[in-house]
Amino acid sequence: MTDSSYKDLWTEILKRLKSKVKKAHFVTWFQDTAVIEFKDGRMIVGVPNVYARDWLENKMGDDLVSTIREIDQTVSDIVFEVHPNLGLADDTRGVDIQSLLDKSPRKIRGKQEVKLAEGVVSKCLNPKHTLQNFVVGQDNRLAHAACMAVSANPGGAYNPLFVYGGVGLGKTHLLQATGNEILRHYPDKVVAYVTSERFTNEIIEAIGKRSARSFKDRYRNVDCLIIDDIQFLANKEMTQVEFFHTFNELYDNRKQVIISSDKPPKELKGLEARLTSRFEMGMIVDVQFPDFETRLAILNAKCREHQALIAPDVLEFVAHNVRSSVRELEGVLLQAIAQAQLENSTPTIRSVARIVQKLNKYDALAGYDDAGDDRAVARSPQDIIDIVSGYYKLPHQQLLGADRHKGIMRPRQIAMYLIRQELKHSYEEIGKLFSGRNHTTVMHAVDKVMKMLRKDSLLLRDVNALKVEMGM
Ligand code: ADP
Ligand code: MG
Repeated sequence: MTDSSYKDLWTEILKRLKSKVKKAHFVTWFQDTAVIEFKDGRMIVGVPNVYARDWLENKMGDDLVSTIREIDQTVSDIVFEVHPNLGLADDTRGVDIQSLLDKSPRKIRGKQEVKLAEGVVSKCLNPKHTLQNFVVGQDNRLAHAACMAVSANPGGAYNPLFVYGGVGLGKTHLLQATGNEILRHYPDKVVAYVTSERFTNEIIEAIGKRSARSFKDRYRNVDCLIIDDIQFLANKEMTQVEFFHTFNELYDNRKQVIISSDKPPKELKGLEARLTSRFEMGMIVDVQFPDFETRLAILNAKCREHQALIAPDVLEFVAHNVRSSVRELEGVLLQAIAQAQLENSTPTIRSVARIVQKLNKYDALAGYDDAGDDRAVARSPQDIIDIVSGYYKLPHQQLLGADRHKGIMRPRQIAMYLIRQELKHSYEEIGKLFSGRNHTTVMHAVDKVMKMLRKDSLLLRDVNALKVEMGM
């Protein structure tokens, strides 16, 4: 059998299975699965990770066999194998579960494309990205508002719309959502969404074919051109020339252009000035890493979307400890949900801390696992005392002194804990640093912090922040 007939077979099986499995389970565990081999009654089913394998083995075995028998009587045995490539963009063996759930033609996966006109290919807009499910906070309010305005009146006031910001902060979401929203308002408009890589390839292809029609004419019929990650056009002169003409053509015809980039136009290196100055003719908005409240709101929204119930303090912990991008925030949450489903449990601070820890270089689990901490850190106790006193805005003499007020005691205990934990100084040595305290006092303090870290997510956040400052 060929890969594609395996795929047809598996799709048929999944269609039948769909009604027998809870939707959430179906989506989580059958996404990117595939029949790898089917020979002599033995079917090998590939899955992208061990979680899926374990879950399917434990929960699905019998139902699966009986379902397959409805289609093929000869099956006697099913084996699940982990194939990590399943689910990566260039591995097409896996079945896209979303496509089985919804029959509407636009609900196709992001990696698929549609041909809009001769030579114009657009990636399908992901219907999951909407302006309504984009959580708005201080740091992305303007970007969201601009997208709303553009979708209500494409080619109008804000043209081009230029959205910039770091990785995983929602640019692609906003761009695709705007495309979706334009189509909702104006179903007849033609919206093309391309990544700048794709755009470059098309141009190279067109040049290679010496196609008679100039490249810019291809986009005649497009009402809105969305180009994601324009920074990748840097140093590609030919592409930039063609893009310049295409842009002008669209702009002169009052067609909407929406662009995203990792930097504002002025800072884009390797892009012609005449292009970047065009970008500045319209509206420039940025997306920033959202503040704590917005992060929490995003987590809550994603929980609702995935129908997951997670305790508020666990969500707060995630919101506190993920500091790089919304994508990572979402990643931690999805892993926590998947793991909880697998283990039939609910996520705890401890379990999500492990996930955060895996994703981060620094140790979100500080104090949870005391053993095996063998990092060599060349720092002095003085450094740690400086950092702690700076963090809590306490003068050294108070931190090191005898005051037993809680607001001073706690930072002092944390400083002791960090010196012990990170520098491995003896309790006696630490005692001497802190006005000659007895070693049992230090021991008690360190112990206390370790215990509290297990329960107190705010303390854990502080300790993590301190460690980051210490370069851990
Ligand atoms: P970028 O293109 O900037 O690298 P993405 O648009 O791919 O980032 O965003 C990463 C993930 O985070 C996506 O799943 C997106 O839906 C989600 N996301 C980002 N910002 C928000 C937000 N404000 N509200 C809801 N989801 C968001
Ligand atoms: Mg993106």
